[in-house]
Amino acid sequence: METKQIKNVLKAPAPHMVGDGFRVHNFFPSGYEIDMSPFFLLDYGSKIEFSARKNPRGVGVHPHRGFETVTIAYHGAVAHHDSSGNSGVIYPGDVQWMTAASGVLHKEYHEENYSLTGGPFQMVQLWINLPAKDKMSKAKYQAIKQADMAHFDLPENGGKIEIIAGNYQEIKGNATTFTPIELYNARLNKGGEAVFNFPRNFNTGFMVIEGSVKINGSENIAADHFIYFDNKGEEIKVEASENSVLLILSGQPINEPIVQYGPFLMNTEAEINQAIEDYNQGRFGYLEE
Ligand code: MN
Repeated sequence: METKQIKNVLKAPAPHMVGDGFRVHNFFPSGYEIDMSPFFLLDYGSKIEFSARKNPRGVGVHPHRGFETVTIAYHGAVAHHDSSGNSGVIYPGDVQWMTAASGVLHKEYHEENYSLTGGPFQMVQLWINLPAKDKMSKAKYQAIKQADMAHFDLPENGGKIEIIAGNYQEIKGNATTFTPIELYNARLNKGGEAVFNFPRNFNTGFMVIEGSVKINGSENIAADHFIYFDNKGEEIKVEASENSVLLILSGQPINEPIVQYGPFLMNTEAEINQAIEDYNQGRFGYLEE
């Protein structure tokens, strides 16, 4: 099997605030022009200390259409509510997979008790595009608790791979997806090693969340960097130089035109105009502020 080589190691772009609760580095599409389809957006909330506060920080009611938002918690806790009637809290290690598809309103705030005490906060939010045929399907919500997550224990106490979606060593992740997607958290102990295999045409990247790793025998790559791979070769070897956490993304590209307008991700201008009209007419449902 041919080695999949690193194309680029990208450092975190300057952060910006989403609402008053999320300080994020946008690696793509704004920070870097890289093709990670079906992953359209990666907002990385690097570790930050929030002070204690009675009224939770966050983002108020806003719409989405045409894609999925996937939120992965590493530190802190986030409460979510949406207009389909789904709600939940994600704690460190948990994943929330919200399929907006034809449209939802949602709001995302720091969970009340976390807000009252404050403390470290670190999250990732991905926007995963949907193919044209699924953009107007029904909204859906998958809550995946870390305790229930499928995982593979690496040999020699190397750590574990938590499979959010896709398969690792024939262990299948809990999330259902519309297109082929591999999404894992690799939690490696110092000296731990793991090997990954992805089809050469899949767009692949690793977000280093914690620690530092060597890839295919490279120099150390530290936390807060995104490792972007070539669309050649299949096999990637990772070695943890210290206890490390990596978010691993690989997916089959969706080769369709994209038109984005704020929180809407469609194929044509006409569909964007329809989304704006539907939103203005209240067709995304109702959610209390
Ligand atoms: Mn949102």
